[in-house]
Order: sequence, then C-alpha cells, then structure tokens
Amino acid sequence: MKSLRIAIVGYGSAGQAGAVLLSRDGHDVTVFERVPRPGPVGAGFLLQPSGLQVLWRMGLLEPVLRHGARVDRLFGDTPCGRAVMDMRYAGLEPRLYGVGLQRGALFSILDAAWPARGQALRAGVEIVAVDHARGLLRDAQGGGHGPFDLVVVADGATSRLRGEVAAPRLDRPYPWGALWCLLPAGDWPWVAELRQRYVAARRMVGLLPVGSCPGDPVRRLSFFWSLRTDAFDAWQAQDLAAWLDELKQLWPEAAGVFAGIADPAQLARARYRDTIVRGWHRGRTVLVGDAAHAMSPQLGQGVNMALMDAAALAQALRGIGPLDAALAAYQRERRAHVWIYQLWSRWLTPLFQSERDTAAKLRDAAFLPLGRLPGGRGQMLRVLTGTRRGVFGALPLDPGFIDALEQPAVVAGCVATAD
Ligand SMILES: Cc1cc2nc3c(=O)[nH]c(=O)nc-3n(C[C@H](O)[C@H](O)[C@H](O)COP(=O)(O)OP(=O)(O)OC[C@H]3O[C@@H](n4cnc5c(N)ncnc54)[C@H](O)[C@@H]3O)c2cc1C
Repeated sequence: MKSLRIAIVGYGSAGQAGAVLLSRDGHDVTVFERVPRPGPVGAGFLLQPSGLQVLWRMGLLEPVLRHGARVDRLFGDTPCGRAVMDMRYAGLEPRLYGVGLQRGALFSILDAAWPARGQALRAGVEIVAVDHARGLLRDAQGGGHGPFDLVVVADGATSRLRGEVAAPRLDRPYPWGALWCLLPAGDWPWVAELRQRYVAARRMVGLLPVGSCPGDPVRRLSFFWSLRTDAFDAWQAQDLAAWLDELKQLWPEAAGVFAGIADPAQLARARYRDTIVRGWHRGRTVLVGDAAHAMSPQLGQGVNMALMDAAALAQALRGIGPLDAALAAYQRERRAHVWIYQLWSRWLTPLFQSERDTAAKLRDAAFLPLGRLPGGRGQMLRVLTGTRRGVFGALPLDPGFIDALEQPAVVAGCVATAD
C-alpha cells in the first residue's frame, strides 16, 4: 500500500505504538493528544509475553527489560494464609516470564522511538468529531484538521469518537475501580512476583514489582487497592491513618511498603468499563486499544492488546489492496484474539471485585485446584500470557523472541546494565 496520510487520536500506549510503527513504514503520521503535556497516567502494569513480543519486534525489548522487573509468579492469598491463586509462567514454557513496568518507563521508551514527535505530535488538541467518509477531524476549539487517508482512533476506554465508527453492542462502566500509585520497593522480598491479598471479593490489595524509570533509578512497586467507584469520595474524606491500619492488619508483611503512603493525593483513581463494538472500522476510521475493546484490568491484558492492535494494523496496511480490505483484515485478526478475553474478563472480574460473597467462596475453593488439574493449568496460563486465541487455539510465540528473553544480561529480575 502507498504511503498514507494518517491521523492518530490519542497518545496512550496504542497511539504511541501506532505512531512508531506507521511512521517506520513510511506513512505521514500526525498525533492529536488532548493533554497539553503528554505523559503517563497511573502507576504500573504487567507486560505479558504477547505484548513483550511486539516490543521485541519493534527492537524495544532491551530497554523494557533494563527498566522493568521480571515477574515469574502470580500469587494471591487470604489474610489467614489460604492460597487462592498461584501461577508460574514457567508452567507454560520454562523460559517465559512477564515484566512489571512503570507507565512512565513505557511512555518514555515509545516516545524516544518516534523521532518525528517534535513536529508531528499536536498536544493540547482535543478531537471532538471525525468525518469517517472524508477523514476530517474537528477539535474542541472548532478547528478543522485533514483530510487524512486514515484516522486511527486511540482515545482510550472512555472514547468519545468510537460511536462515530459503530454503535457499541455493550458499553458499561464497572461499579468497582481502584486506587493505585507507585511506592518504593525497599526490602520487599517478593521481587519477581505479583502478590495480591483478598477478603472475599470486597477487599483486594496488590503489589507488583515494576522496576525503575528513565531518570529515576529507584525500584518501585505498583500498589493497587480495589474500591467501589461510588466510594472514592468517602475514602478521600476518611482518616488516612485508619485506612493504613486496615491495610496493615490485612497484610502485615507489607506494612513497610505501605509506610510510603503519606497523603491520599498520592493515589490515582482508576475506573474501568466493558465495551464491545459492532465494527472496528468505518470509511477511513479505525479503532485501536481500549477504544476498540475496553475491559477491566483483572486479566492484565490492556496494554499488551494495545501494542498488538498497533502491530496488526501496521501489518494489515503493508498488504496489497484497498484501505477497506486492509482494515477488514486488521479487524478479523484482532477480534479473533480479543473476544475470548472480553468474555473471561466479564466472568472473572466479579470474582475479585464485587459484593458476591458466595462467588468469592467458590473462587477460594476452586481456583487453585482447577489450576492443578491436567489441562487446567495450561488453559489458565495461556489466558494469562495473552496467547490464547479463541477457545482452544494459541497465538504462536517466535522462538527468536523466547531466546531474546534469555539474554545473559538478565539477572535477578532486571538487566544488569546501568542506564
Ligand atoms: C488499575 C489498572 C491496572 C491495569 N493494569 C494493567 C496491566 O497490568 N497490564 C495491562 O496490559 N493493562 C493494564 N491496564 C489496562 C491498560 O492501562 C489499558 O488497557 C491501556 O492503557 C489502554 O491504552 P490506550 O492507548 O488504548 O488508552 P489510554 O492509555 O487511555 O490512552 C488514551 C489517550 O487518548 C487521549 N485522548 C482521549 N480522548 C481524546 C480526544 N478526544 N482527543 C485527543 N486525545 C484524547 C488521552 O488523554 C490518552 O492519552 C490497567 C488499567 C488500570 C486502570
């Protein structure tokens, strides 16, 4: 396909990866981002082998491993020490692992990989309407942009533009969300594990090692506290010391880490929603990332899917044929992967964040034994690693990528080289 004039709306993970990949393919890319000073929002996340493979293909695995924290195991238990979840990446393939990363680290790595950003990033421009037939954009100040051959809508879970592509079949905010922040790792012993603690599905606290960030060598943990979104304000108004006491009682081993929380303003509020759209493209417009498939972060897949979307779109545009055929190929490819995660996410999230005590009891009783059943463990690990495709299929991982995960410089959860 010839070089296209492409607009990307949104400079989150999906928009950033899209900008890098589409520019590298020779397209003329302009990104519109509503925030005047673009940067990361939130704390940290878990990169799965599916997303790491995209970064490997982009030539960005090395800086990700340099800053991130290697995660080998996901473990969750109750305050009385009953293990509920225990999954190890090595159960699927001995050399596999996940990587906890600060949002700021991925933002900087992708930002540095897009040399055109100085001229082609239009920050502080909120796009409020798109003309899918002519590839025209209108911003909040009434300014017009375009025409573009293609408009990539990457404006996140609360996308205001997705409705102009297709009416969603489902678009529902989830009643529960989270408070999250980064905390110094200090001497936290579980340097290669995502650790969570649950009380039924009403209380959930998590700590994920997320390594360091360019310009800040302190290794940190991403802290997560589950909360109903209608309780955010009451939480803010309550006494911080009382909440910290509750946390320490729930998880005494983590008291030293919680000491890093001194002010409620440290914690960002996260809301999530389930969105299923009827079509991912219309005319000259296409959806990527959460704009196409918002879901709860319980399965830890959103950033990984955003990266995969961007790579699949770039790949589809490399094919010979009209734009419409390329966008249809992109939609086919990504939908075949995403739909099962949307389904699992809707089923599993209430087991971890809800008032459903009976469902939580079932979870406590069944989750661990299920993961030990022949076949059960492999199924769970496929979902976790982002490599499930359809009900029983698998996304192949390139042997070269798995070899790259074994770089000799990788030690104790991080790459030995300094910044
Ligand atoms: C608590 C929590 C934990 C998570 N943990 C994980 C995890 O462990 N692993 C994982 O893979 N995922 C995780 N996720 C999910 C992940 O964060 C998202 O799926 C991912 O960030 C989506 O990227 P995106 O680029 O599609 O959207 P976003 O990151 O939301 O980016 C959208 C961008 O568009 C801009 N924008 C919005 N509207 C406009 C407009 N009208 N005009 C111009 N610009 C606009 C926004 O300012 C923003 O910069 C988590 C999410 C939460 C909330």
